[in-house]
Order: sequence, then C-alpha cells, then structure tokens
Amino acid sequence: MDLNKLANALIPDEAVKPLDYYETLYPERDLEKGAEVTRLAPSPTGFMHLGNLFVALANERIAHQSGGVFYLRIEDTDEKRKVEGAVEVIHSSLKYFGVEFDEGADLCGNYGPYYQRQRAEVYHAYAKELIKKGLAYPCFCSESDLEKTREYQTENKLLPGYYGEFAKCRDLSEEEIYANLAAGKPYVIRLRSQGDVEKKHPFRDVIKGEITVTENNQDVVILKSDGIPTYHFAHAIDDHFMRTTLVVRGEEWLSSLPIHIELFNVLGFKLPKYGHNCSIQKIDGETRRKLSKRKDPEASLTFYREEGYHPAAVRTYMMTLLNSNFEEWLLKNPEAPIEEFKFSMGKMGKSGALFDILKLNDIAKTHFAKLTAEEAFEFMKTWANEYGTSAQQAYFADREYLLKVLTLCMGIGGKQRRKDVICAKQALETISYFFDETFAPSGEYRFEKETVQKAIRSFAEKYSIADDNSAWFEKVKAVATELGFATDMKAYKADPSAFAGNVSDIAEILRVATTGLSNTPDLWTIMQILGEKRTLDRLNAAASA
Ligand code: GLU
Repeated sequence: MDLNKLANALIPDEAVKPLDYYETLYPERDLEKGAEVTRLAPSPTGFMHLGNLFVALANERIAHQSGGVFYLRIEDTDEKRKVEGAVEVIHSSLKYFGVEFDEGADLCGNYGPYYQRQRAEVYHAYAKELIKKGLAYPCFCSESDLEKTREYQTENKLLPGYYGEFAKCRDLSEEEIYANLAAGKPYVIRLRSQGDVEKKHPFRDVIKGEITVTENNQDVVILKSDGIPTYHFAHAIDDHFMRTTLVVRGEEWLSSLPIHIELFNVLGFKLPKYGHNCSIQKIDGETRRKLSKRKDPEASLTFYREEGYHPAAVRTYMMTLLNSNFEEWLLKNPEAPIEEFKFSMGKMGKSGALFDILKLNDIAKTHFAKLTAEEAFEFMKTWANEYGTSAQQAYFADREYLLKVLTLCMGIGGKQRRKDVICAKQALETISYFFDETFAPSGEYRFEKETVQKAIRSFAEKYSIADDNSAWFEKVKAVATELGFATDMKAYKADPSAFAGNVSDIAEILRVATTGLSNTPDLWTIMQILGEKRTLDRLNAAASA
C-alpha cells in the first residue's frame, strides 16, 4: 500500500508543517541540570477536587524546589466535559491555596497554546507521520460494530478492546479504505500497536517504586472522527513538546501507562519520568473508600473556601498527606515557611492517603491561634465579602470594635490563646452576639422567670461601665445576696439547699441576658466591649421579656 498517498488523503500536506518545525518551535528548555518541568493537566470541568490540589501541590513543589517550571495545560479534548469559566476556577482555587503556575493556559509561556483544542496541527502532523510509517491507520468501525465486539468479548470472557482479531480495520486493503473514504464513511485514526501482552517489563515509577508494566496491544484511537486527539495521544505529544520531564498524576492513569509508553516509542520521543499519586480516601463506617465528589462535600475545593478554612492550614494538612516526614519537620520548624521543607517523591504514599477532617481541623485551630487580631480581621473580612451574610459583612465596618471582639474571643494577649477556631465561618458565628443585628436572645435560663428578671433588673440598676472587673463582680455578688444566692462557694458546697443558688448562677443569668449564651469569654470584658448603652439595653429588654 502506498502509505504516503494514504497519509496525504487523510491529512493533506497543507494542514501541517514538517516535523522539524515543531522541534524548533518548542526547543529544549534551558534549565539547570536536575530542574524538573512538571504540569497540571486538568479537564475544564469546573469542578476542583481535593485530589487536584493534592497532585498540583506535589507537582508545584517538585518543579520549584528543583529550579524548574510548573505549568498548566488544559485537556479540553472532550467537549462534553467542558464548562464555561472552568479555567478561571482552576486558577483561582489553586491560587487560593498558594499554588501558582509559571506558565500555561491564560498565562504567558513559549510552549503554548496550552489548550489542547488549539493544538490540532501538531497532533495531525504526527498522526500523519505514523500513518506514513504504517504505525497508524483509519478505522471505519461504527459504534454498533464496536458494541457487538464488546458483547462478544464479555460473553466469552475475553479482554475488552480493539486488538488482534478484533481490530477489524487494521488490515483493510487499499481498495477498501479508498472505497470507504469515497463513500464518506466517518473514521477515526488508530495506533497500529506493536505490543504483545505476553511481554512484561520492569518500570520505575518515581512514587510507587519498581513496578511491572505489560506491553500494550490495543489499537487505541489517536484521532477521533472530528480530528480531535484522544487524551493518550495529545498527552504524549504535549508532554514532549512542552518539554515535561516528570509527570505526576493520579494513580487512575496507571492502567494507561502501557499505551503511553508505546505512544512515546512510536513517536520517537523520550519518555518522561512518571509518578502515580495515590488517591485520597476516607473512612466511611466500616469501609475505607475514595473521597467522592458525589458523596463528600469535603471532596470539593470550594468547600474549604466556603467554610473559610485558612488556605495555609489546608496546605499544611495536604503536605502531611503528601510526605510522610512532613509532620516531623513541622514539629521541629513550626514557624518556617513550607517552602523550606525538602519535598521528596520517595516519601509520597504508595497506597491511599487517608483524609481525616478532624486532623485538618486541629491543624486549622493551631493555625488560627497564630494569627494576630489584625490578620484574623483581614482574613475574615475577605471571607465575609465573598461568602458571608450581609450582616456578617457589616461586622467589619467598625474596625476597632471588631478587633476588640477578636482579641477577647481568640484569647489574644491573654494567659492562654484559645484554640477553638477552625474557620472564618465558625468564628463569625461565635461572635454574632456582639452585633445587634445578629444577637439572638435565647431566654433559656435555669431559674424561674421572676428570679431571673429580679436579678437582671437589680444588676442593671447597679451597672456602670466605669467599674473595673472587681467592682463589677462585687455588684454581681450584691445581687446574689439580695436574692438569697450564695457568694461564699465553701458555704454553698457545704449546704446547697440553704441557698437559691450561687453567685456563678447569677453571672450565668446575666451572661444569657447579654449574649444569649451560657458559655462565653469573660463577661465583664464583653460588657466593656458592648458599651454601657448596648449592655443596658439588652439587660433591660431581658428584664421585661
Ligand atoms: N486530563 C487528565 C485528568 O484530568 C490528566 C492526566 C495527566 O495528568 O496526565 O486527569
């Protein structure tokens, strides 16, 4: 068969350039020895999974730590999965967690375009080359032909796919091919696989270590009927021409590795190093399963932003999942930037990484406890503007007031920093009582209404903002005495039945009246922050409710 003629009939010369052109257009990168070129190559589905951040962080660390390049390529060959605005989502969600690209889609770079759909020419040029060499051929099988083959293979428990005797178009005669083309039959271009599944080879995966790879024997599609490449083909050409040195990707791609090895071979390209990263799993009852987009809200990167997790905390947690010695390093270097940690592929998990939200929450609490009031203010303000209610956004109008609230509630400057804030959303909910619009009187007291109202009224009559903490407490005690509540805890403990309650019960009544809660930071300070008018308004309202 005249393969040049066939290649020309399928992909005309005018549609492509000589292969040298692409080698010159995308030259080897001028980088120091050992510098790795890595990439993230997501489909633009609009959904960013925690696993995307996981792989992105690994790739970013490896590239930047080695003085290399980390770029973004958009794998948009599957039109059905494409969602408008998805690339912005990729950039913004990763940037939020401190992962930034050096080049790529919607950024500059000399190896673009970084959208696969815009790179049709180079794929066609190489498909043409493979046809010329007899390493690729047109396949006219219809969906129903393929379906029949699939059914036959399933019934007979044979390996599925287009190979060997099932590769019907592999050996079509010249006449048959041209007749099909003349009849306008749609076709795809398939690889003419040279592999043999009986042959196995050792392979070094930079994460999994030594593995065995079976040769590919599938005549996989390389160009679809609309001329768009498949992921396999585009990936090989792009990673070659974008001069990727190391591919770190999810382990779900491990089963495609034989195809990729063969493609790099037939294309005459040097195979990059590969590392297949384990999936993120969680414990669900008795079982351990993959974190699922459908079942687990925490699988989505949006979840962490909507809740207001500090990005540094999420990043730190991801690092503990990525490198087994990271936690030990963190203990020794609690203040050092993560960039100083020596990321190592050898320390990446070989099997599933177990996601534990309680551990993330612990890291988040420790992280929040390190923020100054100003830092917490700025972080929460940004969060509120994007995700908060309008009432929460209004909290930030009076900076001084909110800084005092945060200083108290986060225990800043106190004997002990409080370590209970996980995220901005929760933090703003816990301080809601400082703002009239969100203050919610609960009316939940442990004493008779009459007692409660008497206590509040009596205290309100005595209250002055000028009182220091001890003068203030003397007044609480005075109320207790008036109502037959013990002020001496020893006496109370010796005979509780002799009293209506004790002074801390009075304090609790005042606390509930002023904040709607029975458990808060120091009440005297709360009243100081609320100010005399607001405190008295609340007390008076509670006394007559
Ligand atoms: N487009 C593939 C994905 O979305 C990329 C796999 C790879 O990194 O090679 O998972």
